[in-house]
Amino acid sequence: MPLYEYYCSGCQTKFDALRPSAQADAPIACEHCESKRTARVLSMFAMNVSGSGALSPAERRADSGGGCCGGSCGCGHSHN
Ligand SMILES: [Zn+2]
Repeated sequence: MPLYEYYCSGCQTKFDALRPSAQADAPIACEHCESKRTARVLSMFAMNVSGSGALSPAERRADSGGGCCGGSCGCGHSHN
C-alpha cells in the first residue's frame, strides 16, 4: 500500500497515511486535529520537479521502464 502525504488546512500540518491507491484522493481526517479539511500533497510530483538531477541515468531508466508496476503498465503480463 503506498504512503501518501496530506496537508491539513485546519492545523496547517502535513501528515502521512498508508492507503490503497484507489482511495488516495478520498477525504481523510487529519491525524492531529481530526479536521476533514485535508488535501493530498503530490510529493512524488514535487520530487520529480526539484530533484531531476538526483538520479543517475541508469537509475532513471530503471525507474521509468522495465519493472511491472502492478496493472497499469499494459505489458500483458499476468499480475496474479
Ligand atoms: Zn489538522
